[in-house]
Amino acid sequence: MSALPTRILLLGGTTEAQDLAAALKRAELPFVVSLAGRARAHYPGPTRIGGFGGVDGIAVTLRAERFSHLVDATHPFAAEISPAAARAAADVGARYLRLERPPWRAGPLDWFVDVASAGEAAAALPAGARAFLTLGSRNLAPFLARRDLRLVVRAITRPDLGGRDDVTVIEARGPFALDAERALWDAHRFDALVTKNAGGAASEAKLVAARERGIPVIMIARPAGQPPADAGTADALMAQLLAGR
Ligand code: NAP
Repeated sequence: MSALPTRILLLGGTTEAQDLAAALKRAELPFVVSLAGRARAHYPGPTRIGGFGGVDGIAVTLRAERFSHLVDATHPFAAEISPAAARAAADVGARYLRLERPPWRAGPLDWFVDVASAGEAAAALPAGARAFLTLGSRNLAPFLARRDLRLVVRAITRPDLGGRDDVTVIEARGPFALDAERALWDAHRFDALVTKNAGGAASEAKLVAARERGIPVIMIARPAGQPPADAGTADALMAQLLAGR
């Protein structure tokens, strides 16, 4: 039976989760935000930090703290936590809802090359390409193994470059403005962009820059096995919660 939430565990780590926490606060619905690691972002309301220890650990938390709802607003590429959360909620009879921002889709002027993994993405780059990698600090190994590539890596924290000293690293956190993105692209004259299909507006400017220059975007698909999305925005998820779904 559906009912208004009495207590919500909100799995965060995204801007959508922050938006949702703010909306829950405004609606005076009781909630706790859960984050994987050191919390850099500010969330209104109580926060717990650190992994649960898998499905059973999540189930224990849901039961012990009497959560009626588990709202999963983790990143589309967080492949472990979401299936575990959905299973734990089913095990204890809590309502599971997934907030996942929609993926980017190619428009008529975009040149997307769809691949399933970082390995496939690296293999798709032509010999000697100047490639702009916006994959974060992980998943760089197959690109670093290609000595012929000229790589520019943008990540929040400085990645391990496996001993390569010819890679340019840009340490930066989005959102990225279009003007700055254009200037970066003009300076580096990239032949290809490699990105995960994270979706969202905060890092969309790179796709505009690629489109304007007719440059291919090697687009790594979201991981398989994620629970289906119930909503793509915090507002839409809120509407479901308030409707007792
Ligand atoms: P992951 O591979 O799905 O999760 C790894 C482990 O971290 C999980 O098994 C779980 O540990 C713990 N965990 C993840 N999210 C948690 C949360 N919200 N609360 C408590 N524990 C959590 O995830 P990831 O890719 O490492 O991402 C970690 C966090 O960063 C996620 O919350 C995600 O929303 C955020 N994030 C990820 C990306 C990305 O590209 N992957 C980008 C931006 C933000 P236990 O098994 O011990 O429970």
